[in-house]
Amino acid sequence: MSVDVIAKLRQGAARAGRIWMRASDGRVVSYADLLAETGRFANALVGFGVGRGDRVLVQVEKCEAVLTLYLACMRLGAVFLPVNPGYTAAETAHFVSDAEPVLAIVEAARQTSVAGAVTLGEFVAQAAAALPEFGDAATGPDDLAAILYTSGTTGRSKGVMLSRGNLASNAEALVALWRFTEADVLLHALPVFHTHGLFVATNCVLYSGASMVFQRGFVPGAVLAALPDASVFMGVPTFYARLLAEPQLSPAAVAGVRLFISGSAPLSPATHAEWAERTGQVILERYGMTETGMITSNPCEGARKAGTVGLPLPGVAVRIAGAGGEVLGPDEAGAIEVKGPNVFQGYWRMPVETAREFREGWFVTGDLGAMDAGGYLRILGRAKDLIITGGLNVYPAEVEVALDALPGVVASAVIGVPHADFGEAVVACVVVRPGTEPEALRAALRDRLAAFKIPKRIVVLPDLPRNAMGKVQKADLRRSNAELFSRAGE
Ligand code: AMP
Repeated sequence: MSVDVIAKLRQGAARAGRIWMRASDGRVVSYADLLAETGRFANALVGFGVGRGDRVLVQVEKCEAVLTLYLACMRLGAVFLPVNPGYTAAETAHFVSDAEPVLAIVEAARQTSVAGAVTLGEFVAQAAAALPEFGDAATGPDDLAAILYTSGTTGRSKGVMLSRGNLASNAEALVALWRFTEADVLLHALPVFHTHGLFVATNCVLYSGASMVFQRGFVPGAVLAALPDASVFMGVPTFYARLLAEPQLSPAAVAGVRLFISGSAPLSPATHAEWAERTGQVILERYGMTETGMITSNPCEGARKAGTVGLPLPGVAVRIAGAGGEVLGPDEAGAIEVKGPNVFQGYWRMPVETAREFREGWFVTGDLGAMDAGGYLRILGRAKDLIITGGLNVYPAEVEVALDALPGVVASAVIGVPHADFGEAVVACVVVRPGTEPEALRAALRDRLAAFKIPKRIVVLPDLPRNAMGKVQKADLRRSNAELFSRAGE
């Protein structure tokens, strides 16, 4: 059985002088300091009336205290509920009414919009006056650890319930797979309200007794400056694209880093190749989601195949299912379904919606993909983004990969728009380098894609709408360009 996160924290604290973090202000925090600090925070949480099973909503800009709060909740057996600080008051109001947190910790500027909230400053001041000793709650792997709300581009945002066992099993699998040891130093530049920066990054460090260099945001120059102190870097694809724009990026600049990991959005094979060319290092791409933690990963040793998200994690089963639920064979495209100790406990107070997302005990991810004979998974896009044109399936990812490989293309997003003859027409939105003409792109695609997959229209945009994880927001793209797309079939 997996080891609980707090047992790992205590193991680290028992080892004299083990460093947990170099904070953004340069302060060095040991595991023993972290144990004391989480004890103070846990006592302060109790002081604010938080008990076992109670939700603690945290909506603050990225800072070190968010990780301390996460671990304090784990010590207390409370449920950690981080919220993207970019959400509006109305969006946050939904989380508050849905999850009914006993305590909300927010930035001073937000205090008026969340009833009964305390500011992070007030909370930290209370904690500073509290005792460091705290008796951990007796918890088990089935206890709820966190609720993370899905980004909810369509309909209501749903609260993903993750158990302590979910987090522990995924952390252990990743530590083994990515060969984390206590000698590692992770450069942490990801947001901490999302599973990637919160659980993947933080728990890999904690479960291996490693250290992290904590940065409060992603600034390419600051990342490059800190890389010599790090051995592992985790990023979303936009981080890599932005680092590639830095002239100082070179093999020497990344020499001390043993592993670059990418996830949360598709890494284009073009970026993968450019990174290898510029740095001499091959990015390891992995795939996961809030509901499941990490599902697949390319290996540390062995082939890291560009355009694939690798093999299922140890202990995690992945299958590709057809429309009728039948299991498909190698290279056949279908729905990606997952089973394992990583799969979440359901959506908070939504039993009907939860049941709908499972088929025979398998979680239906909503992603489409195909697995090759060697077990490597290729993501073909969200099921709801599948384009059916003239009765034929077009997987947006396939067209995006072909577009991204063209020299004039910086980024692309492919969507289906209503079309009188075809039902849907393929439309590509592209960000291009100066002098690149859409017609030339269409012509170049003719050598690479069957005619029905070639976009009927290529729209040049200054930028693509992305969320905080760098994921293209296709619903926003459709909404804000509806007028342009209405002419797609002309
Ligand atoms: P989230 O729950 O916000 O982490 O989003 C999960 C979704 O991100 C998945 O269902 C995928 O659609 C997408 N995703 C995550 N990692 C990758 C990846 N490496 N390649 C393509 N899509 C990814």
